[in-house]
Formats: sequence, C-alpha cells, structure tokens
Amino acid sequence: MLMQEERELIVEYGKKMSAARLSTGTSGNISIYDPEKGLMAISPSGIDYFFTRPEDIVLMDLEARVADGARKPSSEWELHTTFYKRKPHARSVVHTHSMFCTTFAVLGQPLQAVHYVIGDAGTAEVPCAPYRTFGTPELAEAASEICGDSDAVLLGNHGLVACGRDIKSAYGLACNMEYIAELQYRAMCVGIPNVLTAGQMVEVMERFQTYGQPGGKKSGY
Ligand code: 13P
Ligand code: ZN
Repeated sequence: MLMQEERELIVEYGKKMSAARLSTGTSGNISIYDPEKGLMAISPSGIDYFFTRPEDIVLMDLEARVADGARKPSSEWELHTTFYKRKPHARSVVHTHSMFCTTFAVLGQPLQAVHYVIGDAGTAEVPCAPYRTFGTPELAEAASEICGDSDAVLLGNHGLVACGRDIKSAYGLACNMEYIAELQYRAMCVGIPNVLTAGQMVEVMERFQTYGQPGGKKSGY
C-alpha cells in the first residue's frame, strides 16, 4: 500500500491522541506530508481512532486530488494542506480539541510564555485565530494567516493546530501546548502569572538549538 509507514503512524498517533484525551470522540485529525511524492496522508472523517485502520487513511495532493482511499478525508483537509503550503518545513500537522487549549480558544486569548516550554512552538506566544466554521477554507485561511512564525495556533471556539518536521514533533508540540494552556489556566485561577520577557525567550530559543543528544530527536513523544 502506498505510504504504508505514514498510514501506520497516523493510526498509532490517533490512538495516542485519543488515549491522552487531547481529542474526544472523533474530534481532531492528523496528517503527514511527503513533498517528494507530493502527497499528504490524512485521517478519515468521523471514524473512531481505535477503529481506524491503515487502509482508512486517505492520500491526496495539496490540491485535494485523491490519490488513494475509499474513505472521505478529514473535513479539515484544507486546514492541513494550507499549513504545508505556508510552512515549508512542516511534514506533519496535528489538530486537537484538547480541553485547556480550547478553553483559551473560547476566550479568544493567546497562549503566553508562562513557562519556557512554549518555545517549542518557535515563538514566545501562540495566537488565537478568529472563529470560523469547521471544515471551511475560511478556517484554514484565518488559522494560517494569524499563525505567523509559530508552529502552533489556537482556533477560536474550536481547538489547536500544531505542525512539525515529523509526526513526533507535531504531536509533541500539541502535548506541550496543552501543558502550557493548563498551566496558564491554573495560574490565572489564583493570581496573575509572571510571563517571561522577550529577552528571556530569546535565550530559551538559543538553548533549544542544542537541547538533548547531538542529532537526537528532541521530542519525547
Ligand atoms: P474530522 O472527523 O472530519 O477529521 O473532523 C474532526 C474535527 O475536529 C473537525 O474540526
Ligand atoms: Zn476540529
């Protein structure tokens, strides 16, 4: 089967995402992009992650021409293709409805540098896109436009999108953003959180360049 490895990874990470409660029911979706083949493998629409099989994954190009797959692709396929078009380093996109990220998305508030781990997104703040109906080109446009240099963005009254150089990084970023959102929420329940300065975050970004083992993967997911 074409893109067998990518299909299996999407099935594996869909189960992880569901088990970690980053998505409930059939919410959220995952894709992997292979620029050499010009194809994106994406989770099917509305199928429980624990029942999704590799053959349910849909392969399409960035212009939505389906190359393989009997299933309907995720309703958010355009959100994913837009990220690959606008972010050349992106090889995987993970969209979740995780509770704390979505709480700030409901408030229309960005995630802030309440902890240095926000630097995993590549920026000191993760913005929130205005609300748009799910599965529309308007949502894809609003999210990719406000995202800027960040690898993550909140979707107003909806959830989170995270991208990365592989599925491990994109999924790890979605987990880290949920951690930041929960921390920000909890801190705001009892006071006003200290937010790291731009200068402090520049230092963090520099240290992230050499974090972990030489040549090793930085994400623990
Ligand atoms: P799909 O099941 O079509 O991927 O939709 C889930 C979702 O989160 C829509 O925003
Ligand atoms: Zn969604």
